[in-house]
This record gives sequence, C-alpha cells and structure tokens, in this order.
Amino acid sequence: MDPKNQIESLRNELREHNYNYYVNDDSTITDFEFDKKLEQLKVLEAAHPEFHDASSPSVRVGGEITKNFKTVKHINRMYSLDNSYSKEDLEDWEKRLHKSVGDDLEYVCELKYDGASISLHYENGKFVQAVTRGDGTQGDDVTANVRTIKSVPLQLKGDDIPEKFEIRGEIVLPWDGFHKMNEEREAQGLELYRNPRNTASGSLKLQDSAVVASRPLDCLLYQLVGDNLPFKTQYEGLEAARRWGFKVPPQSTLVSGIDGVLGFVDQWDAARKDLPYETDGVVVKVNKLQNQDELGFTAKSPRWAMAYKFSAEQVSTRLLEITYQVGRTGAITPVANLEPVEISGTTVKRASLHNADQIEKLDVRVGDEVYVEKGGEIIPKIVAVEMLKRPADSKPTVYATNCPECGTALVRNEGDAKHFCPNDMECPPQVKGRIEHFISRKAMDIDGIGSETVDQLVEAGLIHNYADLYDLQYEQIIPLDRMAEKSAKNMLAGIEASKQIPFERVLFGLGIRYVGETVAKKLARHYKSMDALMALPEVAENPDTDLFSSMVTERSRSEAEKLQELSTVPEIGERIAESVVEFITDTAQIQLIERLKASGIQFSLSDEELSTRSDALAGKSFVISGVFEMSRNDLKKAIEDNGGKVSSSLSSKTDYLIRGENMGPSKLEKAEKLEIEMISEAEFLVMV
Ligand code: AMP
Ligand code: ZN
Repeated sequence: MDPKNQIESLRNELREHNYNYYVNDDSTITDFEFDKKLEQLKVLEAAHPEFHDASSPSVRVGGEITKNFKTVKHINRMYSLDNSYSKEDLEDWEKRLHKSVGDDLEYVCELKYDGASISLHYENGKFVQAVTRGDGTQGDDVTANVRTIKSVPLQLKGDDIPEKFEIRGEIVLPWDGFHKMNEEREAQGLELYRNPRNTASGSLKLQDSAVVASRPLDCLLYQLVGDNLPFKTQYEGLEAARRWGFKVPPQSTLVSGIDGVLGFVDQWDAARKDLPYETDGVVVKVNKLQNQDELGFTAKSPRWAMAYKFSAEQVSTRLLEITYQVGRTGAITPVANLEPVEISGTTVKRASLHNADQIEKLDVRVGDEVYVEKGGEIIPKIVAVEMLKRPADSKPTVYATNCPECGTALVRNEGDAKHFCPNDMECPPQVKGRIEHFISRKAMDIDGIGSETVDQLVEAGLIHNYADLYDLQYEQIIPLDRMAEKSAKNMLAGIEASKQIPFERVLFGLGIRYVGETVAKKLARHYKSMDALMALPEVAENPDTDLFSSMVTERSRSEAEKLQELSTVPEIGERIAESVVEFITDTAQIQLIERLKASGIQFSLSDEELSTRSDALAGKSFVISGVFEMSRNDLKKAIEDNGGKVSSSLSSKTDYLIRGENMGPSKLEKAEKLEIEMISEAEFLVMV
C-alpha cells in the first residue's frame, strides 16, 4: 500500500474505534492495539508531512499551547434560557405558546447538562473551530483544547451533512473521571476540585492542550444551528447529529402536550442521581422549527425553549459538633456533625466545612440551625446559618489548634486554604498515606500491595514507614489475614522490582510536600543525585563567636544558602524550596533515606540517563511550534535534558524558536517582529 492510503486507512480505523468507545461506550479494540496503531500512524505522518490533516486521530494527544485565547464573535448569538422553578411556571409557558402558535404542540425534553457551553463549527464535514459562550455575542476560541476531547468528532460521517454549520453543546466532566482526577490530587497533597462544572470550564482555558487531552472530558450536543439544515424538527436534528457522529445523550425524548413534559421532569428528578454526569434540570423545546421561527427570541432567550431547574435540595438541621479529619497528606478538613436529616433519599449526618475561612465566613457555631445542600458538590455542604434562631449563649467557633489524631500543633502555610498536621512520621493516617503514596503507580509502582494491605501491615506493627517495606520477610507477612502464599510472594517480588525505579520517581515517592511528579523530575534532572540535592553549601567560618553558637548559625546560614540555590532551579518557587530544605535537613527523613539507599533504591540518574544529558543549552529559552518528526514531548525533554528551558509563548526573552511544519502565521509574525532566531528540528539536533 502506498503511504497515502496507509495513512488514510489507519486514520479511518482509529476514528471508528474512537467513535465506538467515546461516543457509543463500546470498546472494539484493546488499548494496547489502539496505541500500537496510533504510534504507527504518527510515524507515517512524521515521515510524510505533506499528508498533514488537522482531523487526524493523532492530534487528540494535544501539545499545542495557547497563551492568549482569541476572541471570536458568534455568527449566531448564544442565548441563555428562561428558567422555571415550578410546574406551574411550565404550564403557564405552555399556555402562552398555545396562544401564539396553536394547540397541537410537540416538545423535545432534554436534560440540562451542567458544564461549560460550547459552539462547534464544521465545514465540509470537518471540525474547524470551537468557541466558548462568553457573553453570548462573543466568546473565546478554544479549538486546540476541544480538539483533544475524544467524543468531539473531527471528521463527520454520512452523505447529508450541510457544507457549513454550527452545533451547540456542553463540555462536561463525568463523575467517574472527576473522582479519578481528585484521587490523584489527593495522592499529591493538592487541594481537591470542588465540582465537575468548574473543573470542566477551567479545563477549556488551560494553555497546554496536552493537559486537556489527559482530562476525561466529554462533549454532549443538543442543538444544530445553520441555514438550510436538512430537517424540520428539533428531534430530527438530534437524530441527524447522532448519525453524523456526535454524542447526543439518549435521554432526549419527544412528547406531546404538557403532561408528557411533566412526566419527563418527574422521571429525571428522581433518576438523575444515577446519571454518569451532573444535571441541574430539564430543557423543554418546541419541536417544529417552523414554530420556533414564529416564536423567535426575547432580548435574552428563545421563546420556544424553557429550562426547568430541579430544586437544589436544601434542608435545615442542627449542628451538633465540629470535628476535624486528618487526610492522608496531613491536610485537616473540618466536618460538621449534624442531627441526621433526609436529603434526596439519603440520610445526611455530616457535611464539609472546607477550611477555617469557610467557618469564619459563615460564622457557623455549634448549636446553630444550619441549611445543608447536596448540589453539584461531592459532599453535602452547609450554605447558611439561621441567625434568628441562634441560641443566646452561642460562642464563636474556635478552630482546632492540635491534630485530633496525634495531638501535634497544626500549621497553616501562607497561601494554603487548609491547616495541616506536620507530624508526618507518626500521625497514623499520614503514616499510611505516605506509604501508599510511595508505592503508588506513578512513584515506586509496587504491584501486589493495595491500600488495605498497607493498613494491615501498619496495624500489625510490621511497617512504620516506607523504608520498612524493604525489611519485610515472607514469614512475617504470611500469617496476615487473607494473605495467601501467592500474594505474599507477589508482594515481595514487587518490592524487589521497585529497586529499579528511576531516581525521579523515587524522589516523587518520598512525599516531600509540594514536590509533585513534575517538580520531582525537574529536581532530579537538575541535581542528578540525592546526595547533590541534599548537600548543604559550605559557609565561611565565623571566628567571633564561641564554637557552639557558631555551629548553629553556620547551619542556618548554609540552609539559607541552600534555599537560595534551590530557588535558582528553573520553576522551583520559594514554597517548594522551603519544603525541600525542611525535608532534607530533618534527621528522621535523612535516616529513612539512608535506609532506602542501603536497600538498593536508585538515588541518582543512571549512566544512560546521564549520557543523553548535557549543559549545552544552559540558560537558553526555547519555544516550539508546529509539527515535528519527533514527538513534541521528546523534543521538550531533549531541550530540558540539555539544560534549556521550554516556554509556551514568544517573548523578548526567547532565544530560539524551533520551527516545525504548519506553524501558525501569527507565531511566525511575532517571531519576526521580536527578531527571534528560528531554527529547524535538524538544526536543533545539531546543537545538542
Ligand atoms: P443558563 O446558563 O441557566 O441561562 O442556561 C443556559 C445554558 O444551559 C446554555 O448556555 C447551555 O450551555 C446549557 N444547556 C445545558 N443543556 C442544554 C440543553 N439540553 N439545551 C440547551 N441548553 C442547554
Ligand atoms: Zn497528626
């Protein structure tokens, strides 16, 4: 097969699997096979840039950086919707419709998806642009980011596709994906995302589309807009969109008369808790497009559609006690313990109070009557206090000063919303948390130990920290509950295998506060070994003072210099530097590291890793743009491995622009204006 056909056929095949998986929830290929074919396609595309196509499935991985989102005027205004909060409102609306367009009306009832609204543009069956709603007249061009959302078709199918049209929908983050993202945040000690809606709309405005690609976003479509669309009703429009490859949720229903509408509302008010994503209501639309035209728009919204908002269930109850929960990273969450109360079919006894600021803002006190809501948030929350009913002897809440698990005085760092318990060596949830983090997939990746096993091992007193893992013996673990010969052997083999895990992941696994995966990588590449990272700079002797106090000041002076030194590492801020210095000067941590070293853990970059590194690009700043033979990630890595810095946008500080195929004209213009040296991929490779 000639390369052109081969590329085409791979693209079609991958497109079909993508469609089956992301739009129809149906797997038709293993992940492994899919990745293999995708890799094959990428290699072919790199060898044949002349067949570049922005709708190729290979663009899903992202990589394009948007520094400033371009403002785009909507061709068709994006209206909002009138809201109704009661069935009477809906009935009144229907009566008004009858007066205007007659009695015999059908409606399409849809769910109101709670995410970020989006307008997608297609030309000749290809995705060309995505724009946020903005103020309704103009929004932001978020094409690069939306392209990475797998359920957005880049190439449509069918033979009745209008040459040019727009389709509206909502970008949402399904609960599953949202919870997974939060699990990772939690493992890294980062503050959790509050709700899927904000996380979805925040994702659209990220600068790095590769990050967007990694988020499990979904795109649900509900309205076609354009001239000469090949159908006469909203319902046919939804069916057509589905045929062309869009994800149109199956709940949308055609009903006749208001009774059908009210039936749909009742059904989904109850059933919505089982949906994979958040919904806050129903949208009812007049089915016939001709009727829609007759009804037209008010200044703000269409007359032919009406949203019905499910009531955010709010109930009042009494606050009995505020307790404090210690997370696995030591973060403290205040919890309201409530007189049990029923909300949407579940009994609620506890609600989150988030942090000290939230308590202060609500001025919430024990004994208060409070309003609890279970909205789009994961955990119920307290939204208000009934001040009129506050007992006369009520006292302001004083936030906890000590850890409820271990008694250590709590700390709150500047800029952090939450307090934390600094006793990470002994505080029980933290002991388990640190071990779990250490063995997690992105750190030491120790197969064969789950979180229950960690609990068991800690509770049996077999391990107190991650270094203890490497002293575990078969005879010690086999008596544990539910431990079979095979699982015990797997566990020990997993521990043994982790001795090969590269330094940067070991560093991440140590669980230094604020040192996530990326920071660990940066530090590992900069220092190349744990010894270098831990070495405190020597400071000149101070002859004036007596020996003891001079030792003390020398120590703190050399720590101060270490702080300085760390802050000069690209992208290491003051907060991270402080946390690192605190860690590497803590005797207990030093002992753990010594023990890990003695067990044979990797504490420096391997020779192989070192050989691909140099300081050839030290101090040089690069911007990359366009499509390259090697992957963008490899290119970035090559720059960083050789001491250079990659930034996402051109500025007077940029030294080189590495220019790939299909580079955007605006970048080119800007680079020329700033007189930035442009080099090709080949020229770059010569530099390193
Ligand atoms: P609002 O923001 O309350 O005025 O509601 C209008 C928004 O609801 C629109 O901008 C859409 O983003 C969103 N929406 C969600 N689901 C639908 C749907 N099925 N039909 C129309 N709009 C919807
Ligand atoms: Zn504690």
